[in-house]
Formats: sequence, C-alpha cells, structure tokens
Amino acid sequence: MSSRPEPRDDLRALEGYHSAQVEVPVRLNTNESPFPPPAEFVAEWLAALEAAPYNRYPDRDAGALRSALADHLGQRAARVFPANGSNEVLQTILLTYGGHGRRALLFEPTYALHAHLARITATEVVEGQRDETLAIDLDSAAELITRHRPAVVFVCSPNNPTGTVEPREVVTALLDLVAANGGLLVVDEAYGEFAPRSAIELVDDSAPLVVVRTYSKVWSLAAVRLGFAVGPEWLVAELDKVVLPYHLSLPTQLAGCLALAHRSEMERRVASLIEERGRLFAALSGLDGVTVFPSGANFLLFRVRGDGRAVWKALLARGVLVRDFSRRPRLDECLRVTVGTPTENDAFLAALRGALQEVS
Ligand code: PMP
Repeated sequence: MSSRPEPRDDLRALEGYHSAQVEVPVRLNTNESPFPPPAEFVAEWLAALEAAPYNRYPDRDAGALRSALADHLGQRAARVFPANGSNEVLQTILLTYGGHGRRALLFEPTYALHAHLARITATEVVEGQRDETLAIDLDSAAELITRHRPAVVFVCSPNNPTGTVEPREVVTALLDLVAANGGLLVVDEAYGEFAPRSAIELVDDSAPLVVVRTYSKVWSLAAVRLGFAVGPEWLVAELDKVVLPYHLSLPTQLAGCLALAHRSEMERRVASLIEERGRLFAALSGLDGVTVFPSGANFLLFRVRGDGRAVWKALLARGVLVRDFSRRPRLDECLRVTVGTPTENDAFLAALRGALQEVS
C-alpha cells in the first residue's frame, strides 16, 4: 500500500527558491565572481587536501578558520560563526531566534531567502516596504518594530536585488529601535566588500547586532559553500548550540583559511569589478528606455520601458542570462545583471541594445 505523508501544514503553500540555471555563453544571473579563484590558492588547497585525515571528523569548532577570519576582520574569534554559505548562517539565526509565535521583519523588495527561511522555521513574516527610492523609511520601520516587536529584523545592505546601501544613520537608528524592543538586527552583507561602508565595526557584545558575509562573491568560492556571521560572543555561543555538529567539512574549512592569504589579489578584483560596475552604470544610463538604480554591489538593477520579460527572453536568445524580476511587486519590468568580466559586460550591452530594438 502506498502512502504519502503530508509535510507540515504551514509548509504546504511554500514555493521553492527559483533562479534559472541555463547553460549559455554569458551567465550574469547569480552575482557570482566572474573569475575563478587564484591558481596558487587552488594549488595550496589541493596540497592541504592530500595531507588531510579523512577518516576523522573535522574540527567541530572550525577553530583555525574562526581565528583566521577574526585576524582578517580585526575581531575576536569568539565573535565569528562560520557555516555552509551565508544561507546556512541565516537559517541557523532563524532556528535560534525565530520559530513559533515569533516574527521576522524585512523590507521588501529584498533577498527572497530571508522570508523563505523565516517560513521554513515557522517564523511569521512581517513585510515592511521600502519607499519609492527603494530606501528604508525609518518612521515606518519604527512603527512596525514597536507594533510587532519582531524577534529578528533583516536589513540587506547592499540590498539584493536593488543594490541600495543603507546609510550608517539608518543602521544605527534601526539597531536602537530593535534593541529597545528585545529583537536581533541581522545585517546581510553578502555584497559588503563592494560597498563603501560596513556594519561590522558596530558589532559589540552589548548590541543585538549580527553581520552576515560570504565567500561566494569576492572570494570566488560559491561552489565551496562558505559564509560567516560576526556577532556578539553570546549570540555565537547560541548559534553553536543549534547548528549541526561537524556541519563544516574539512575541505571547506581548509579553503576558508587558505583563501584569506590571497587578500590583496581579492582586493584587486573587487576594485576592478567596482570600476566595471561604473562603466556598466554609465552605459545603461545612456540607453533610451532604460532606468538604472545606483548600486553598492556587484550587480545592477535596471528597468526597461515596455515588457521586461520579453527583454529577458530576447537577451537569453542572444546567449546572455540575467535575472528576471519583472513580475515581482515594486520591481515591474526590472532585470538584474551581475557585473562580469569586461568581455561579458560588452556582450551583455550589445545583446541588450539588440533586445531593446527587437522588443520595442
Ligand atoms: N544573502 C544575499 C543578500 C545573497 O544575495 C546571497 C546569494 N545570492 C546570499 C545571502 C547567500 O549566499 P551564500 O549562501 O552563497 O553565501
């Protein structure tokens, strides 16, 4: 007799996370680094992997990685929590501080996984709305925080998919509000290295603030799955109780430590991507029927006159994959393009000119 158990009631309406993975010559849809990691890093990693004791569980505390990250960030190791991608960091935060009877506040449009992970962890989602400039309005944020007293408040800066970087005063004002209402402020800085400021320096054992970062973008290691949080020691201790034991594989821990030795190469790459972002921004601004939003990340959001979905399809037909947000509330006719290599960016611009002509 066949039987198919039902998932939890509150998961039934949930949709999975969708981002098309299509094999095309120019893939600019998932905000990865366009560059492979440096060859010297790969050689060092492979040598370390050859000498590793695979019959043993990995270091449960990932002590070497936490220390290396702490040195890199000028922080204490006890304030660092690494996990399998920043998504696992965010999930662990919600498993620890969200759950039944608790709420998570976020400001739409923003990274879809914040709401998705909240729902998976049975945390009620409270949707704030960014204002017409896509910034967080402090008055409406204050109203939502005092009314709902969310256990977790998410701020994504630079925000995915808009690119918006929150001003320092907004982050500190939100932190005061969240602290006064017993919650935790999570600043998702997956794109933080491309932005002019970071909230990491606000992390302190007396503040309910945690900043989340990733190796997926700047460090060219999206396939390895490694991210980390920087937060108060008491918060890291709580996350450590909740996350699965031995969750970080030895290859991942080794990659995380060894990559940090290539900091100057990574900084060069960030500088060149920021320069390319400026070039793309100028080129998009100059196109008739295109409005581009300022961005502090390694991507740009732009709106096309006419049918965004049709432009997305016409780009795909020309071998260029970008991310289609044209049907998302507040982002009508918007597409998001990752900053690639100069050659990829030129291919994108040429394809976009053709696509706009074809669709108009
Ligand atoms: N946060 C934001 C804002 C992101 O855009 C992404 C990746 N798309 C992530 C977190 C997750 O990144 P990862 O799990 O690869 O570290």
